[in-house]
Amino acid sequence: MESYELIVIGTGPAGEKAAVKAAYFGHKVAIIEKGELCGGAEVVTGTLPSKTLKETALYFSGKYEKGLYGVDRDLVREASIEDFMFRKNYVTATEGQEVIANLNRHQVTLYHGIASFEDPHTIRVKGKEEQLIHGDYILIATGSYPYHPPAIPFDAKRVHDSDTILQIQRLPRSLCVVGAGVIGCEYSTIFSTIGCKVHLINDKENILPQIDGEISAELIRQMQAAGIDIHFNASVEKIEVPAKEEQPLILTLSTGKTLEVDMFLYAAGRSGNIKSLECEKIGLDLGKRETLVVDKEYRTNIPHIFAAGDVIGFPALASTSMDQGRVAVSYMFKTKDLEHLPTHFPYGIYTIPEVSMVGITEEEAKNAGLTYCVGRARYEDLARGRILGVKAGLLKLIFEKKSLTILGVHIIGNIACELIHYGMEIVEDKKTLYHLIGRVFNYPTLHDLYKYAAYDGLSTLSGHKIKP
Ligand SMILES: Cc1cc2nc3c(=O)[nH]c(=O)nc-3n(C[C@H](O)[C@H](O)[C@H](O)COP(=O)(O)OP(=O)(O)OC[C@H]3O[C@@H](n4cnc5c(N)ncnc54)[C@H](O)[C@@H]3O)c2cc1C
Repeated sequence: MESYELIVIGTGPAGEKAAVKAAYFGHKVAIIEKGELCGGAEVVTGTLPSKTLKETALYFSGKYEKGLYGVDRDLVREASIEDFMFRKNYVTATEGQEVIANLNRHQVTLYHGIASFEDPHTIRVKGKEEQLIHGDYILIATGSYPYHPPAIPFDAKRVHDSDTILQIQRLPRSLCVVGAGVIGCEYSTIFSTIGCKVHLINDKENILPQIDGEISAELIRQMQAAGIDIHFNASVEKIEVPAKEEQPLILTLSTGKTLEVDMFLYAAGRSGNIKSLECEKIGLDLGKRETLVVDKEYRTNIPHIFAAGDVIGFPALASTSMDQGRVAVSYMFKTKDLEHLPTHFPYGIYTIPEVSMVGITEEEAKNAGLTYCVGRARYEDLARGRILGVKAGLLKLIFEKKSLTILGVHIIGNIACELIHYGMEIVEDKKTLYHLIGRVFNYPTLHDLYKYAAYDGLSTLSGHKIKP
């Protein structure tokens, strides 16, 4: 039996980064992948495909350029499904190859097949042939899969989850999305931007409950202005799928309303990918929604078996999964280079417009009884915002009133997911408003949002407010 110092199960961001790090430090590593492509949800079904579709929708719609230069660029023709998927397919294929190239560069042995536990140190790989391999350490990085409520008749043709929506053969005339979390909101804005009528069904009274209330209200406003119908406090009770594709799906909502749509996307909830591992054979502790329970070192209840990424649940992001994998390796091989994730990491939501945040929300500040204050700056008030033609966008700072320490940064608007990283540094380093106004930024840039939000915060505090 071939023996390795580390066996990693899954080539998503958690698995890939852990495997190459361990190999970089000179350890003998194997990685197992059951999918045809490597890269997991990051490359194949989640992060990169959806982000590429967002850029594609913006390109074909010309949404951010319309009316900007006096003459509008005529589209050669309406985007076809092939146009819409072209770049996504390219990015998926090339990034999948890049994962394999990275594993090869680090001399990680790649096995194709389904991994399961034979015993706590032995993994069975069921591929074209079946083999057993031994691992001193094992990292489970098997990710998650979309939750399928029994009442939804998923058929991967018109009734989709977030995996199958990426394989559609034609553009929907209209789409109903269930779930106003990150995935549901992102796809609602992508399909709406490409010209499809979108209904977003949400069983709560606000969307994206984890983000700052003012930012979520602004996103709702912009989504509605773009023509998305958001049905609050509603759920889908029944879906009738007609035999003929030309006929609409008929949805009955809990509010009594009936909707007729061409396609349906269920995007509410994911569960950990552990079924095929046979964890019960070795007695691994399981959490809610088929997740694995780990400690702060990402170690399971069996000391040489670690788990990282979506399979351990929240926050279930590609960004955090990568570093969880790297941290796990630090504890296995005592590399001492990265022993925990930072306290503050950003959330990026690639809706149109983008939303990103780091640190606390205003609601959290209120609930914690903090004495806080807020500073705001709007994209449309900046020179750079005018050049770009941004009609609405906001950066909001939440700071402690007495010390002026910045506790949270919230952005909605163009490249919010890029702009947030400066915010991450100032929140992590507990910088004050004076730090921001003491910096010189390139001009004209959107980074000025930080400086003017700081001035706005100071003017609110002093009671000498120039702008409303
Ligand atoms: C639509 C969508 C959009 C997203 N957008 C973002 C975003 O913008 N930013 C962000 O940071 N995150 C985003 N995410 C989340 C991100 O994709 C995941 O958090 C991340 O991919 C999880 O990484 P992972 O390594 O834990 O698992 P995965 O990426 O799911 O990889 C797990 C791998 O394990 C393999 N596997 C499973 N079981 C076995 C087995 N028994 N044997 C062998 N192989 C197995 C799978 O085939 C898969 O390749 C998005 C997710 C979705 C669905």
